[in-house]
Amino acid sequence: MPLPSTGAAPWVVLKFGGTSVSQRHRWDTIGRTACKRADECEGRVLVVVSALSGVTNELTAIASGSHDSAARVSALVARHLRFARELDLDAEAVLEERLAGLQALAGDARAAARTLDWQAEVLAQGELLSSTLGAAYLRAQGLDLGWVDARDWLDAIELPNQTDWAKRLSASCRREADDDWRARFAAQASRLLITQGFIARHGDGGTAVLGRGGSDTSAALFGGLLRARGVEIWTDVPGMFTANPREVPDARLLVRLDYADAQ
Ligand code: ASP
Ligand code: MG
Repeated sequence: MPLPSTGAAPWVVLKFGGTSVSQRHRWDTIGRTACKRADECEGRVLVVVSALSGVTNELTAIASGSHDSAARVSALVARHLRFARELDLDAEAVLEERLAGLQALAGDARAAARTLDWQAEVLAQGELLSSTLGAAYLRAQGLDLGWVDARDWLDAIELPNQTDWAKRLSASCRREADDDWRARFAAQASRLLITQGFIARHGDGGTAVLGRGGSDTSAALFGGLLRARGVEIWTDVPGMFTANPREVPDARLLVRLDYADAQ
């Protein structure tokens, strides 16, 4: 379907968490779902992704100055290269710059003092890596997909009495945008866009992160700012159960439930 000629095409935001971006067949699902939604709404889709599963935990350990940081960085580099190969990508070409960025951060002058801006940048690498891999894979499958740096669009704001730590590592973002913001966002050429959850621009121009689990918030923020037709938070479970199936082995999958029951 051709791209609607006006910038007024409706948006749908789709968010996929760590386990939903860590296997090749899941990226096929993401690509299919994105195309389907764009067709259904005769509009455009923004895909928001988390880091590969477990990666933010590793980055958190590195950011907190773990004694085996060097080994953790090497393991993260190896894992992303391996996954890129599994996606049949030229792993070095696709990831070279990002992985060099991660390694440079680990040896950065700020690492010893673990400054807050450095910690935020370290934590942000997971989503930057996963979105870079996903964009390369989906493009290789023939999708018209643009990669967006979420920090160019989500601005952290300062709240009264907010600590420097929270401003940097548990940031709140501006929730209003003007028509100019929306027009600039819509001016990006591709019908489908992919961006990172969890990360935003700090007031000083550096990186801020939204706090653990923040990618859902990113999706909601983008949905509001874009006045999207819908925001879908995808996760890799079959549905809602009568109880937590990890604790109650005979919990049953609910075929149907309304909003109040879900609450
Ligand atoms: N990757 C971040 C985390 O693990 C954000 C998210 O996935 O929601 O907390
Ligand atoms: Mg989550």
